[in-house]
Amino acid sequence: MNESTAGPARSRSQSATADEVRDGERPAAVRTEDLWKVFEHNDIRVEAVRGVTFQIDPGDFVVLAGPSGSGKTTLLNLIGGLTRPTDGQVWVDGREIGNLPDRELAEIRLERVGFVFQAYNLLPVLTALENAEFTLLLRGVPTAERRSRVEKLFERIGIAGLEDRLPGKLSGGQQQRVAVARAVVGRPALVLADEPTANLDTATSASLIDLMAELNREIGTTFVFATHDPLLMERARRNVRLVDGSIVADERRD
Ligand code: ADP
Ligand code: MG
Repeated sequence: MNESTAGPARSRSQSATADEVRDGERPAAVRTEDLWKVFEHNDIRVEAVRGVTFQIDPGDFVVLAGPSGSGKTTLLNLIGGLTRPTDGQVWVDGREIGNLPDRELAEIRLERVGFVFQAYNLLPVLTALENAEFTLLLRGVPTAERRSRVEKLFERIGIAGLEDRLPGKLSGGQQQRVAVARAVVGRPALVLADEPTANLDTATSASLIDLMAELNREIGTTFVFATHDPLLMERARRNVRLVDGSIVADERRD
């Protein structure tokens, strides 16, 4: 939809006005146009994302599925502005982010995007609570409010009482839940989650998915997951399947 309002030709030829402007209409949460990411090391060339064009509606709950190595993580990193495209464009909430200066990109990530990394990426010297409240701290939220928001979330996802533990003293599943708490505690417009249920038992996965579905319903947070988890795929409103860096299927069920 709305392909006509901001085609690539216009955006490329007028880079200063590459952001999508649609009178009174909400832009797509995410849009990509012929997006490529190529890694080159010592004569080895990997085309991790190969010409992906798609868009995600605001408030959607979308799974990127596909075998290992199909480009799910790379695509999430491109959407989240953690990796620069080799070619093509990415818009988040109507702003073209592929060529933004680092500083502006960092601001968008802090204010608008929550990440759940495949390897959790918790800071080892900070406690579970300090890790989870980190983005709130950067945003200047007062201490008491940060603590109460994190504590409520920890309660909700079954890790209450672990606030003062360092990540090294938590199980994989507990670290994963801290990582999810960190991503959602600031109620960002967009959450990008890489295999967020990969190391969890079914009951814990279900409670995390419930939490994310609730945020999705209540405040319209857009969720994009990279996953193999059938439980999560079942709950998604849309399944986009990647093979070798390209979209090969795109199924919506409402
Ligand atoms: P998935 O998340 O679906 O398993 P990835 O996006 O991690 O897939 O990887 C897609 C392809 O890109 C794989 O062949 C992988 O080895 C390669 N790749 C990913 N990141 C890098 C990198 N930083 N350097 C070189 N190759 C990479
Ligand atoms: Mg991956």
